[in-house]
Amino acid sequence: MMRIKFDTHTHTIASTHAYSTFTENATFAAKIGMDGFAVTDHGPAMPDAPHDWHFRNLKNLPRLMFGQKILVGAEVNILDIKGNIDLDEDILKRLDVVNVSIHEPAYKDTDKDDHTEAYEAIVTNPLTDIICHSGSPKFKYDYEYIIKLAKKHNKLIEINNHTFFVRRSNVENCRRIAEICKKTGTGIVVSSDAHFSMDIGNYDLALGMLEEIDFPEELIMNTTYEKFKDFMENERGKKMGAWVLQAQI
Ligand SMILES: [Zn+2]
Ligand SMILES: [Zn+2]
Repeated sequence: MMRIKFDTHTHTIASTHAYSTFTENATFAAKIGMDGFAVTDHGPAMPDAPHDWHFRNLKNLPRLMFGQKILVGAEVNILDIKGNIDLDEDILKRLDVVNVSIHEPAYKDTDKDDHTEAYEAIVTNPLTDIICHSGSPKFKYDYEYIIKLAKKHNKLIEINNHTFFVRRSNVENCRRIAEICKKTGTGIVVSSDAHFSMDIGNYDLALGMLEEIDFPEELIMNTTYEKFKDFMENERGKKMGAWVLQAQI
């Protein structure tokens, strides 16, 4: 099975439904020989999320720890059909990785039948990077249209391993999304969405599905830290790890 050495979506106890500290995450990632990971706790609209000071202060984290490359980010919430999100522009600009998700408790327009409008606003927003776990049958959108638009705007589509055991109703759509990415040549990331340190780097179920559909490895942008960094810097035009305390440079 192929290896994914940079995990783009992980949580810490800053989101209280997750159970490990940043240091525990880095320790485990080093132990299993990862290149590194992005720390991406929930944006403030989720009931268990940290205050937005958490995101303003991420520059305090080390960018290299136990040999692990660390990127800082958030998993922001789509708030409504207009595609508004829950962190201010001045914070989003400083984050290395902006994961974007619909989470039901933070989303106002749950009654709509189609959520293409929200996703269109997200993929055309220059401050977002990765569309996360978007296979929910409750929040369907025009996959083909949005995925093509994501490619045009150099956004990545996430295949989230956590989906395969906590959001099982999404699995069929998740496969369709991956098939459309394959067909259109759109880049993806494979993430653990770990809520506990020992789940970092675990993508067995997601990779199993990608192998079944013969998904091309060249479209998986986070197989190594270098590949992810190159994509983010060259295609997204962001400097990874730029936001650090002066003392750490
Ligand atoms: Zn999520
Ligand atoms: Zn998450």
